[in-house]
Amino acid sequence: MSQLADHLAHLTGFRDREVMDTTLVSAIRDLLRPRMVAIYRLVGDEDSRHWLTRARLAAGDAAPHADPLWVDVESLPRMDQYPQRLAALQQDDPVVTVGESVQTVFALTTDREVVGVVEIETVVVINPEHLRLVGSILRIYRNFQALLDYSERDTLTGLLNRKTYDEAFYKVMASGLPMVGDLGTGRRGDMRPQHHYIGVIDIDHFKRVNDNHGHLIGDEVLLLLSRLMRSSFRFYDKLYRFGGEEFVVLMRCNSAADAIAALERLRANVQGYSFPQAGNITVSVGFTEVQQGDTPSGAFERADKAVYWAKAHGRNRVCNHADLLAIGEATDQSKSGDVELF
Ligand code: GH3
Ligand code: MG
Ligand code: MG
Repeated sequence: MSQLADHLAHLTGFRDREVMDTTLVSAIRDLLRPRMVAIYRLVGDEDSRHWLTRARLAAGDAAPHADPLWVDVESLPRMDQYPQRLAALQQDDPVVTVGESVQTVFALTTDREVVGVVEIETVVVINPEHLRLVGSILRIYRNFQALLDYSERDTLTGLLNRKTYDEAFYKVMASGLPMVGDLGTGRRGDMRPQHHYIGVIDIDHFKRVNDNHGHLIGDEVLLLLSRLMRSSFRFYDKLYRFGGEEFVVLMRCNSAADAIAALERLRANVQGYSFPQAGNITVSVGFTEVQQGDTPSGAFERADKAVYWAKAHGRNRVCNHADLLAIGEATDQSKSGDVELF
């Protein structure tokens, strides 16, 4: 019992979801001593979902194994390759399959969505008391995730809120940014540092939407835009609503060309989408590469300046702050100090 209490204290002692998944499999391993316990999450587009291993502990493992977050989704097992996991997502009770070993699969859900499964492999069928124990731990996990969502997510769109941006930014800085001339290939297992970019997305003439159709329709546009963002970027890119009609993406890419491709995909997806009532809407996008020594606000301001340039030059376009520097439309603040440019 005290071991269980220790695990629960540990599980809810972190605000970091990645650490929580690791803690959850460690707790189940210590309490049930299974052959293997793992958390798999569904990632990728609606029509091409794949299983990402978030944490996997076999009996003899010292530490959990996980797929790198920036793995190529297509290289992961497809959703339909694991029918037991799919079955677990459809029902409340765990799915038990008896074969050479016994596999027990629980759905892992949050208030908003089904996020994946917990899979436990044992020599014999898990007894009812242990099944209830795992069920209770998963409920605590879910409740705690809901609390995290409440404090970290925007209620309208479900995107991350501004409060969590600084921490994610510093995590990126700590993960090691590339030195000049260092180009990671992005291949699976490639541990070289990758480039990170911050994009700021602002709806064009959004005031008109509110003025012409009312605030409720305006809010619906914000919600639909957040969905277009989810489908335009990779699952590991972090999406934020900073407030109002201002959205931010913190993304990991191989090069500026890849960042432009992703942001252009969003811009084109928005332009091509017919919003109910509001009709056609466009966005202006500015972005910048995260550099050594950057601050969260410094990088954001560069991307924001690129948005203003895009607004002043026709809207419905993507602008790289580095291009503004190159054509003399902006100055490098890291060299010139706090100069207001616009
Ligand atoms: P621009 O192309 O220059 O960006 O024009 P704009 O009208 O989008 O820009 P501006 O910043 O002048 O107006 C933003 C408007 O967004 C003002 C406000 O009515 C609206 N807005 C801000 N937050 C919300 C919100 O949460 N819901 C709704 N419906 N509207 C919002
Ligand atoms: Mg605005
Ligand atoms: Mg706007």
